Amino acid sequence: MAYSKDYKIETKCIQAGYQPKNSEPRVVPIVQSTTYVYDSTEEVAAVFDDPTKSLIYSRFANPTVMAVEDKIAELEGGVGAMCTTSGQAATLLSILNICEVGDSFISLSEIYGGTVNLFAFTFKRMGIECIFVDKNASDEEINAAFKPNTRAVFGETIANPALSVLDIERFARLAHAHGVPLIVDNTFATPVLCRPFDFGADIIVHSTSKYMDGHAVQVGGVIVDSGNFNWANGKFPALTEPDESYHGLRYVESYGKLAYILKARMQLMRDFGTYPAAHSAFLLNLGLETLAVRMKQYCENALTVAKYLEAHDKVISVKYPGLEGNEDYELARKYLKGCSGVISFRIKGGKEAAIKFMNSLSMASNEVHVADIHTCVLHPASETHRQLTDEQLIACGITPDLVRFSVGLENVEDIIADIEQAMKKAF
Ligand SMILES: *Cc1c(COP(=O)(O)O)cnc(C)c1O
Repeated sequence: MAYSKDYKIETKCIQAGYQPKNSEPRVVPIVQSTTYVYDSTEEVAAVFDDPTKSLIYSRFANPTVMAVEDKIAELEGGVGAMCTTSGQAATLLSILNICEVGDSFISLSEIYGGTVNLFAFTFKRMGIECIFVDKNASDEEINAAFKPNTRAVFGETIANPALSVLDIERFARLAHAHGVPLIVDNTFATPVLCRPFDFGADIIVHSTSKYMDGHAVQVGGVIVDSGNFNWANGKFPALTEPDESYHGLRYVESYGKLAYILKARMQLMRDFGTYPAAHSAFLLNLGLETLAVRMKQYCENALTVAKYLEAHDKVISVKYPGLEGNEDYELARKYLKGCSGVISFRIKGGKEAAIKFMNSLSMASNEVHVADIHTCVLHPASETHRQLTDEQLIACGITPDLVRFSVGLENVEDIIADIEQAMKKAF
């Protein structure tokens, strides 16, 4: 079977990553094996010398997982990808690959709560400092956050749960002016709605647990490398100088455009071992096959629900970048082909009404998840963000009356009817 790099994204979702040859299985096989067999010791030794040549052990490479990695790299327009056991593991390794003790990096402050914990507390204990900047800060203010030891800038295409849109070109320009890469978490947008590499981002991470999987059946993550960043500018000796743990290998010299992603695999994945099982990758691939079709429907359903809520007399305000009047509407038009299925809104009557409304929903499920085919709902103030004080909640835009609504793929009339009946019970 032939494959073309010129295929459109809908086609890539289905055809990329695995093209069976004569008499091979139609569907990507699940290679549930920890290890791989060789005829001779010399051959095993040769693979240890250069693990990019063949497979050794499923702690860092497996054929089923690699088919999915190739598909995701194709979807994002990157040169290579590496799957991980969770989105958190992807973010962790994306930073650790270029930061070590004594280094710092900059992150937008509107990011996923789990990522805030990792950046503000766990990295701090590891001697890596994260400096948070506001997305509306001026270029001057952001430039002032850079230090000689800054190694990256990090942001989310559509922030979870703030639902703000990242000005990718602007942050790529600021990062590049200081000789460091822009890392973008593209979880909510997926490559169907936005391809951050097209706007200057250098590295992409995803929680594949969300839309990519889409069915809430596997927790996973992925790092994708654009191959565009120049690691040999003097700031990244770990990529240009000999790696003692790999018989003096120099990643940039040996692997060129693949230096970053191969270092992540050969060094970090070898040592940390957060590689997914073949079966999880198989399930993720099923989700990816329908990603393009699903994303269009999520966006359509969510826009309809957002407009309905905006007109509702028990709703104070609705946050969805696809609504005219949203502060990021123009950024959304520039960067996104749709704004995903996630909406947040403030309900009249405070926390009590919010909880009563949520408890009264009969179809939408109350769960700590987002971005899957089932419509689901979450109360950030009493669930995901319950450790924060009232002042901290306000600072990150989470009021007690805020409801996060993840619109699924049920018929939108049924979704709205469910909201309607729950609103009646809540008031
Ligand atoms: C969920 C999420 C993560 C963390 O991913 P897990 O797969 O749950 O580890 C990271 N970033 C964003 C934007 C997310 O929504």
